Amino acid sequence: MIEKFLETIKNKTNIVFFGGAGVSTESGIPDFRSVDGLYNQKYDYPPEEIISHSFFLKNPEYFYNFYRNKLICKGAKPNAAHFKLAELEKAGKLNAVVTQNIDGLHQMAGSKTVYELHGSVHRNYCMECGKFYGLDFIENSTGIPHCSCGGIVKPDVVLYEEMLDDLTVRKAVSAISGADVLIIAGTSLSVYPAAGMVRYFKGSELILINRDSTPIDDQANIVIHGKVGEVFSQIKI
Ligand code: NAD
Repeated sequence: MIEKFLETIKNKTNIVFFGGAGVSTESGIPDFRSVDGLYNQKYDYPPEEIISHSFFLKNPEYFYNFYRNKLICKGAKPNAAHFKLAELEKAGKLNAVVTQNIDGLHQMAGSKTVYELHGSVHRNYCMECGKFYGLDFIENSTGIPHCSCGGIVKPDVVLYEEMLDDLTVRKAVSAISGADVLIIAGTSLSVYPAAGMVRYFKGSELILINRDSTPIDDQANIVIHGKVGEVFSQIKI
């Protein structure tokens, strides 16, 4: 299957990539649902609850401690998957990266067209005055981070119970529905509505690269159960 994948990438253009937390595990950022993922560690509350909008409002101090310790990975660097995707875009073969990740590693690797469905840890806004703050501000703060105006500075990250950004969704759907090749990688395809977006694909080659099986393995033309960074490192551009 890897040979077929490499051949397809070599011969095709109009490729779109749809990825999730598994794209960044080889950069040292844990995903949610693997055995060593965040959902299998022990906390006072289930992680899904901690990163929900209602929990954020009720218990912001606990939210920010969890957020700083578990969702921000200081010093994480892009891996081969991020770098090869940036190279494919530069070579005119890849049109867009659609990601559920919030880590900003695609941009750090050089990708330009990145649709971040769940926002980014690199953008933070005061809930009162809208003033922008970078990641450093959250990392270096303790407890609940406050703006100079006194408002709470909230990460531009989509929490459970919150809506996805409409424009980002529309651009992502347009990229997916116009692609000839869709590569889906490093995602359990279980977080909606993001996971449902892959249904808009109507091109010829659906490629799936994931360590574990997914609900749509049987629909893909090429299925590789392996590590996305290791697979991508074999691409020659
Ligand atoms: P998930 O945790 O539900 O699933 C991750 C999938 O990736 C699993 O199926 C696993 O088998 C696979 N995987 C793990 N490492 C892999 C590797 N090296 N190569 C190939 N496959 C690998 O993640 P999800 O589907 O993205 O959904 C969870 C939500 O978690 C997303 O909404 C995302 O916003 C958020 N999240 C983001 C980050 C991040 O920004 N890096 C990290 C954790 C969670």
